[in-house]
Amino acid sequence: MSEDYQAKTHIAFSPNKVIMGLGSSATVAAEVRYLRGSKVLLVTDPGIVDAGLIKSIEESLQDENIPCVLYDKVEPEPPSRIIDNGAAIFKSEGCDLIVGVGGGSSLDVAKGISIRAGNEGCILDYIGVDTVPNKGARMILVPTTAGTGSEVTRVLVMTDEEQNTKNVVFTPFSLPDVAIVDPLLTLSLPPIVTADTGMDALVHAIEAYVSMNATVFSDIWAEEAIRLIGTHLPVACAKGSNVNGRYHMCLAATLAGLAFTSGGLGAVHALAYPLGTEYHMTHGRTNAIMLPHVMQFNLPGSPDKYTRIAKLMGKDVDGLSPLESAYLAVEAVLDLEESINVSCQMKDYDIPEKDLPLLVDGAMKQARLFVPNPRDLNENDVRLIYQQAFEPSWPL
Ligand code: NAD
Repeated sequence: MSEDYQAKTHIAFSPNKVIMGLGSSATVAAEVRYLRGSKVLLVTDPGIVDAGLIKSIEESLQDENIPCVLYDKVEPEPPSRIIDNGAAIFKSEGCDLIVGVGGGSSLDVAKGISIRAGNEGCILDYIGVDTVPNKGARMILVPTTAGTGSEVTRVLVMTDEEQNTKNVVFTPFSLPDVAIVDPLLTLSLPPIVTADTGMDALVHAIEAYVSMNATVFSDIWAEEAIRLIGTHLPVACAKGSNVNGRYHMCLAATLAGLAFTSGGLGAVHALAYPLGTEYHMTHGRTNAIMLPHVMQFNLPGSPDKYTRIAKLMGKDVDGLSPLESAYLAVEAVLDLEESINVSCQMKDYDIPEKDLPLLVDGAMKQARLFVPNPRDLNENDVRLIYQQAFEPSWPL
């Protein structure tokens, strides 16, 4: 272990229990019993219901005589009102345990309802870091995308419709009692959702890895996640029924979630958020667009770690200078994006260049994410990075 690691104290956050395995979602009812749950609120979105993903969970709860109320009103990039409405149903129905099934949107709504169950007011009252006074309701989270890692993170993300901003509640009380990762639930993901959510996981791993708050734990988790995603994301996109590809993407997304919930995020997320709120693009796609541009800007701040990323993604860095080898990490990401048909150019999404000031303003509202970023950036740098995304040139 290097002396850099030994010079500081390391903290890791994780749920009480993580269960991973093919078919492991069949254990939901047993875990509810173990947690002494007597009435479940099952939180999900209509797409998950249509994909038939909650049927076996509902049936297993029925077999165990555990009453269950379905709340399937989750919307993508969920507005805060979806959480508050769910919290009202949790209370009026007399539920005492939440099972969230779905992508990051459903899992974050489940987390918000849990927090509201133990705390007064509305969920927007708790925006920020460690602002939640009480632990909420018990909670089991079951992801159906291999991306956000929400099942193991201490954060929930929601949209404030009035302000048109994305906001986070950062609290260990949003960690579930049990996370159940069943790769079979991801077989039905369409290729485009596989690509976007897989890139989201890669952004989590890379941002945590180069973060100024990286820890010995987040580094280990992030390295493995980066390696797995480089190998398995193209397979999962090319052949959705490939269980091996899906398995490793699920593992990678969970590891990346563990990595960033301890190591933090950075400027990719700050610059991606305005694309989501202004043009209603998915979180994963907006992250994928900004990733190579922010990486290129960041290289001088952490050449060793970017070189390691290049190696983990299969690049040969022998004989190159530190910056040349670090740049190969950008190239590896561009290669990966090309292989899964994800463009990082704004022009491919009809985003008008005249909106540049709007984007810069939006990113500056997320300036808290610049603190752990490996290179300092100001408003002008943000503008330059967006300009690069409008008209990319590689390397700069
Ligand atoms: P999502 O939950 O919005 O789901 C996207 C779409 O995919 C939905 O229509 C859903 O029905 C469908 N879907 C999901 N799983 C499916 C499956 N197996 N088969 C078929 N269709 C399926 O997408 P997401 O990218 O997982 O989550 C995005 C949200 O998560 C954003 O709000 C983002 O800000 C948030 N997020 C949270 C964290 C966290 O740690 N809490 C981290 C990153 C992102």
